[in-house]
Amino acid sequence: MIIVLKKDITQQQFQEVVDMVKELGFHAHVIQGTERTVIGAVGSSRGKEKLQAMENMPGVENVMPILQPYKLASLEVKPEKTVIPVRNGTSVGGRDVVVIAGPCAVESEEQLIETAKAVKAAGATMLRGGAFKPRTSPYSFQGMEEEGLILLRNAREETGLPIVTEVMKPSDIDVICKYADILQVGARNVQNFALLKELGKIDKPIMLKRGMMTTIEEFLMSAEYILSGGNSRVILCERGIRTFETATRNTLDLSSVPLLRHRTHLPVVVDPSHGTGHWKLVAPMSYAAIAAGADGLLIEVHPNPEHAVSDGIQSLKPDKFAAMMTTLARFAEAADRSLAPTAH
Ligand code: PEP
Ligand code: MN
Repeated sequence: MIIVLKKDITQQQFQEVVDMVKELGFHAHVIQGTERTVIGAVGSSRGKEKLQAMENMPGVENVMPILQPYKLASLEVKPEKTVIPVRNGTSVGGRDVVVIAGPCAVESEEQLIETAKAVKAAGATMLRGGAFKPRTSPYSFQGMEEEGLILLRNAREETGLPIVTEVMKPSDIDVICKYADILQVGARNVQNFALLKELGKIDKPIMLKRGMMTTIEEFLMSAEYILSGGNSRVILCERGIRTFETATRNTLDLSSVPLLRHRTHLPVVVDPSHGTGHWKLVAPMSYAAIAAGADGLLIEVHPNPEHAVSDGIQSLKPDKFAAMMTTLARFAEAADRSLAPTAH
């Protein structure tokens, strides 16, 4: 249920409303909108009538059911888009389109610094790179782990670019939080509920990737796990789904972008690198993603894709990335957006 508060509610009345929600056995999620403040009362459906009766309390405007199975993620609870602050004025979900670029995996200091400098020079907003890699084969490179995180932090110190990196299991959260600005949940972990619950307890933004077999509703229910744990900073990432088509690595479902816009206030970014699996398709699908209303892009860039330990085929060389960024700025402008400024 959503409890809509009156604009002139006093602090004491507010506290009484929160206490009553808890007393009735629900969690009280306070959602501060620009227009109004609401409390999302989330829990089992028992006791709903009593919540409804809270309409009589001073300071309460009305109490409404949330019709969607995802509650805190829904537009019903918060009609305006969520803007997620990341670091040093960088945020996701506002008018500016963010571009998160970098290698699939952190491989070495030289590879990372060279890529970081190149993507920054081309105007990227953030740096990505996996230190813990989810690989299909147990014999493939699994990532540099904390050593890779240190290289990412050094690259941030050198370039000012905030860091996005993947977390695969709860026991790695603490160490990753020491270095990263955004924690990425990969497609394979989108329904790892034990991991999502733990990420609900931290205060870093989470970039949640859609799974290759995840419906929009399941995707939003996964976001709900993080939100209901108390972490309101969730960024959704469309990265393609598995279909009968084998000419591309995945089928990039760009229709999910406007669809999600109608269902949720959370920002949506698009990953055309994993979404297509081919570097030649990355630029056109990036432009299409902006046209569809994406708040950002996640792009794999590697200085020597032919020597990349993972995902070389889909990685752009820095010069191709720079050329794409120039055209992307014009698409962003046409969509009444602008590219987010790069760090100084
Ligand atoms: C990645 O971003 O490098 C990655 C492994 O992506 P996904 O989880 O979407 O496959
Ligand atoms: Mn990759």
